[in-house]
Amino acid sequence: MRSISILGATGSIGASTLDLVRREKGNWRVVALTANGNCAELARLAREFSAEIAVIADESRLAELRDALSGSDIEAAGGESALVEAAARSADITIAAIVGCAGLAPTMAAIEQGGIVGLANKEALVSAGEVMTAAVDRSKATLLPVDSEHNAIFQCLAGNDIGHVRSITLTASGGPFRDWSVEQLKNATPAQAVKHPNWDMGAKISVDSATMMNKGLELIEASHLFPVGLDRLRIVVHPQSIVHSMVEYRDGSTLAQLGPSDMRVPIASALAWPQRMDTPCEPLDLAAIGALTFRETDEQRFPATRLAREAAQAGGAAPTVLNAANEIAVAAFLDGRIAFTRIAAHVEEVLSCYAPDAPATLDEVIAIDAEARTRAKAGLLTESAPLD
Ligand code: NDP
Repeated sequence: MRSISILGATGSIGASTLDLVRREKGNWRVVALTANGNCAELARLAREFSAEIAVIADESRLAELRDALSGSDIEAAGGESALVEAAARSADITIAAIVGCAGLAPTMAAIEQGGIVGLANKEALVSAGEVMTAAVDRSKATLLPVDSEHNAIFQCLAGNDIGHVRSITLTASGGPFRDWSVEQLKNATPAQAVKHPNWDMGAKISVDSATMMNKGLELIEASHLFPVGLDRLRIVVHPQSIVHSMVEYRDGSTLAQLGPSDMRVPIASALAWPQRMDTPCEPLDLAAIGALTFRETDEQRFPATRLAREAAQAGGAAPTVLNAANEIAVAAFLDGRIAFTRIAAHVEEVLSCYAPDAPATLDEVIAIDAEARTRAKAGLLTESAPLD
């Protein structure tokens, strides 16, 4: 029996992970399950999986969580420090699936305990960069990528020497607006942006996918996980989302990982690693799919990948600032306060006016993230024509 904690258990990745755990319940002992504010679902899951502890990040909901768990042996806790303490509990594998930089401190706590961390929470690695990779080295933790592209690359690298890699290509679906004109993009609504053609995901990553910032964040994520040099990392649009990424070697061989657009496949790969486990996913039917197509990204319409590449090239705190500004801009778009095309524009403005020194510690990352958010919010308040 292996033990597991799931940070962000009530989200899309959390649900997919628990679906797999549910199918092999006898093989798993659940340590910690966490959520932000969704008490009812957290309590329901904690009871179903007999979790050791359930943590609600929004401390004002703790009494509600306690009520919902009364009569059980499950510990209830609330607040950010409780989240970090729960993440630091010993577990064979922790799935880091909180959305945004809110997941950074708990993910770092899970890394510090030295087990396996299945990383879905890409914003945490983008924001902390070398601070996180240094913690992985120090604690001897194993960071397994759950993001489908990075999981694909991880699988394509297995058994090979990274020194022989000529290039790594991240595939991008292109999101729901991949064929829209700039004029159409200006009027894109939150409801349209969260309706991804291939994947069923949380709201924030769905908007990131629509702006292509998701691919930009993934480029930065890949630069840390697979240090082959930024100039060897590419992005190609692949509307079918069947090839999840590719690795080209010096001899001209390109290895690709293919699979259905279902996050249970990469999650299962991380859960079972270095073994394999069953999933309920339909086998690929390539004859039915018919054609796999690829095309260049269009950075005129979708500037976010350029911004992310420039932030990665600049290094230091630039990715932290990019990520924080993007989180604020996406939230403003989802609230109907700014136009879709203002998301990337706003990120670029914040990056151009805030360039702090590189963070060396987790506290410094958190401080830069907080300051970037403050500036991003202030910038939104002064926008003259927000929906233009
Ligand atoms: P969801 O929005 O579906 O779920 C987010 C989870 O994080 C929920 O459990 C939520 O709790 C919790 N949460 C939100 N805010 C906070 C906070 N401030 N403090 C603590 N917990 C919080 O997101 P996804 O599952 O879609 O994505 C999770 C991560 O995985 C993201 O980083 C995303 O980029 C990455 N990812 C997701 C993929 C997908 O297919 N969904 C694919 C690849 C990567 P509550 O329910 O209470 O709000």
